[in-house]
Amino acid sequence: MRLRDPVLMEKREIPQYQRSSSRLRRSGSARIVPYATSDWLVGSAPMAFPATRLRRLRQSEPLRAMVRETRLSPASLVYPMFVCPGEGVRREVCSMPGVFNLSVDEAVKEARQTHTLGVPAIILFGLPEKKDEVATGAWAEDGIVQQAARAIKREVRDVVIMGDVCLCEYMSHGHCGVVRAAHPQSLGAAVAVPAAISADYEIVNDATLELLARTSVSLVRAGVDVIAPSDMMDGRVGAIRKALDQAGLINTPILSYAAKFASGFYGPFREAADSVPQFGDRRSYQMDGANLREAIREIELDIEEGADMIMVKPALPYLDVIAAARERFDLPLAAYHVSGEYAMIEAAARNGWIDRDRVMMESLTSIRRAGAGIILTYYAKEAARLLG
Ligand SMILES: [Zn+2]
Repeated sequence: MRLRDPVLMEKREIPQYQRSSSRLRRSGSARIVPYATSDWLVGSAPMAFPATRLRRLRQSEPLRAMVRETRLSPASLVYPMFVCPGEGVRREVCSMPGVFNLSVDEAVKEARQTHTLGVPAIILFGLPEKKDEVATGAWAEDGIVQQAARAIKREVRDVVIMGDVCLCEYMSHGHCGVVRAAHPQSLGAAVAVPAAISADYEIVNDATLELLARTSVSLVRAGVDVIAPSDMMDGRVGAIRKALDQAGLINTPILSYAAKFASGFYGPFREAADSVPQFGDRRSYQMDGANLREAIREIELDIEEGADMIMVKPALPYLDVIAAARERFDLPLAAYHVSGEYAMIEAAARNGWIDRDRVMMESLTSIRRAGAGIILTYYAKEAARLLG
């Protein structure tokens, strides 16, 4: 290299990835590199502006498409569906325009349409006829999701049916587990805690596991291909795996909602699935939204218990959790683009404030870029249509 102006020599740190020339590769991590304003004309020094112009590759759509790092495909999408009793029922969810409560016959039509668009999988949620204290509707042989799974499997053979496993939609109290009155810690506590506030009940972890396991076996027998527990009880993946294996269902994979955060973004879902807790909230079992390290522990434990795939939920507010999970674990990773994320886009688009399709695709691409290979989204059909 000829030096034009030795006066401008300065010490520069050259990052490893920039050391492209053999001269630089032989050098250490920090060294004296000659630098002059016209250096780029005569030497092989690291190139910056004006030699490097990143806009060159943004000039046309074919060029942009060629260098695109993240691609969406309908093959990675899962479409959530809410099945309800009746026939010919197609009831729109107020807070989720475009999403419906569907009777079994309508669910079959929707599953067929989804499949035709190239979306390989659906996930089923149920709205039972009756709710009780032991979530009978979740594990009954003629439960609403069991009926839907049978009918869909009969009519749309190739679709992958995922079964959300939780009890909240089937419990009269709307919690994801068995509820019992809490025992006061002391006489003082008993006196201090008035009735009907959150301190006087508890969600019983281990008693819930049995119901989740029973539900899982029942769903698979009805035709569900993938079991997806979303309750956030400790030990549920292990309990479900054991129950499936004992029932001879050794080939049914488990997609665990491993890091599911207690989130305000679930609001519209609770209308869609009629699963609002009648008292208290879900913070004693779903995760605190502030915790990344705990999310990694949750995922680790689910993998140890036998999860075949893992999920982070919600998606956009937790992209860092998705990225950290992708970095750390090699299992297929899913993210749930939840009802509130959908509702916000729909509401703003209906007001003419944003371009719906653009924001939808940008959101899904971001989730994919963060590392989720599988995306559960109410936009699955719309996105598949756009992707062609
Ligand atoms: Zn639940």
